[in-house]
Amino acid sequence: MSFSSLGLHALVLKAVEAAGYTEPTLVQAQSIPAALAGDDLLVSSQTGSGKTAAFMLPCLHRLAAGANARAPRILVLTPTRELAAQVTRAADIYGKTLRHLRYISIVGGTPMHLETRLLRVGVDVVVATPGRLLDHLNRRSLDLSRLEVLVLDEADRMLDMGFIEDIETIIGHTPATRQTLLFSATLEGVVGNLAQRVTRNAKRIQIAPTRAEQPRIEQKLMYADSKSHKSRLLDSLLRDPAMQQALVFTATKRAADELSTNLRIEGFSCQALHGDMNQGARNRTLQAMRQGRVKVLIATDVAARGLDVPGISHVINYDLPRQGEDYVHRIGRTGRAGREGFAISFANHDEGRLVRDIERYTTQQIAVGVIAGLEPKLKAAPRHAAPKGARSGGNRPYDSRGAGRTFSSPDKPRSGFGKRPSREQYSQTRRAASS
Ligand code: AMP
Repeated sequence: MSFSSLGLHALVLKAVEAAGYTEPTLVQAQSIPAALAGDDLLVSSQTGSGKTAAFMLPCLHRLAAGANARAPRILVLTPTRELAAQVTRAADIYGKTLRHLRYISIVGGTPMHLETRLLRVGVDVVVATPGRLLDHLNRRSLDLSRLEVLVLDEADRMLDMGFIEDIETIIGHTPATRQTLLFSATLEGVVGNLAQRVTRNAKRIQIAPTRAEQPRIEQKLMYADSKSHKSRLLDSLLRDPAMQQALVFTATKRAADELSTNLRIEGFSCQALHGDMNQGARNRTLQAMRQGRVKVLIATDVAARGLDVPGISHVINYDLPRQGEDYVHRIGRTGRAGREGFAISFANHDEGRLVRDIERYTTQQIAVGVIAGLEPKLKAAPRHAAPKGARSGGNRPYDSRGAGRTFSSPDKPRSGFGKRPSREQYSQTRRAASS
């Protein structure tokens, strides 16, 4: 199937062509004609399936006939600032041929008066996180009475993050005649209830992830005796030639800053990303990560939600997440765009229960791995029983071939964060990261 058979405006097709897309993805092939027909949609699809274009292209089609920027016609709500930034980038790419198109991203952490000024001038498309959008509605600096399309992107995560009331209030400011496009990993449970309230005769489109889209993430659990043992494990993983870029999770913002400082001292190109940073600093850090200038990002859960950097080869849980759901969000930051990813979780010996909770949530047992020469010295906690209904993740001693390829690095320094990487090692990594 070709894009030209979907019924999109010629200007939008031109932008799609310029983006280098030759064929619509499954979710695009099904959603775009239905959206163009004016249907409300409930679409279950994963990140990486091309869902952003699936809603953005029909929205831009509406605007192609001549943008009228007196009041927003399209509103996309996203759970996080980072996802909002991604959607805005998509609007920029797919809307490049629409000369009069005006769009704005409204997210917390940026100066509100700037947004107010732009809104006053007039925009066609608003991409926003619910909290900040609501602030504008309350201050009457935003008028949604002429809205034509409301997109709820990653609706399940917005509900996970407690945005239900904000979303309903925002919807109360939009006309009943609007078209609603709801995208979510799942359409069941609370998302299903919301969908029922906010859509009319919606068409359901369910896309099972294809093999290519299914993230291929190899998960490992590594027991650590102490904080310094964790540091040595981390050091070894970060020096592995298979590591292109790593996202390391800590439990607190302070720990993220500390770890990032230590790693920088050891010579790693490393930055922290957490909620205490202002939006400008967060954007600059993410940009540096995307461009491969930063190799290691140390983050907290909230800051890294929705992060989409295809170069992240490794997610490392320096501290275990408190909930299974966070574990899933964390490891989903690797294995993106059809690539292979590695997720390694460090656990203290007394964290067996937490591991069990995560495994129960994912219904998958995480295989225990060790790095040769860095095995835990304390007696490992007896390996817990597989959770009920869990599929085995292969609880076997870490395979040496696998270890050689991915984790093991027998020639590498073992103390603290080890020696500073050699210039050669460093430039090799930089080349790999930027290629
Ligand atoms: P998304 O699921 O929207 O996050 O998209 C995942 C990635 O797929 C993005 O990097 C898009 O640029 C890319 N993409 C979206 N649609 C297509 C397409 N039809 N052909 C090739 N790449 C695409």
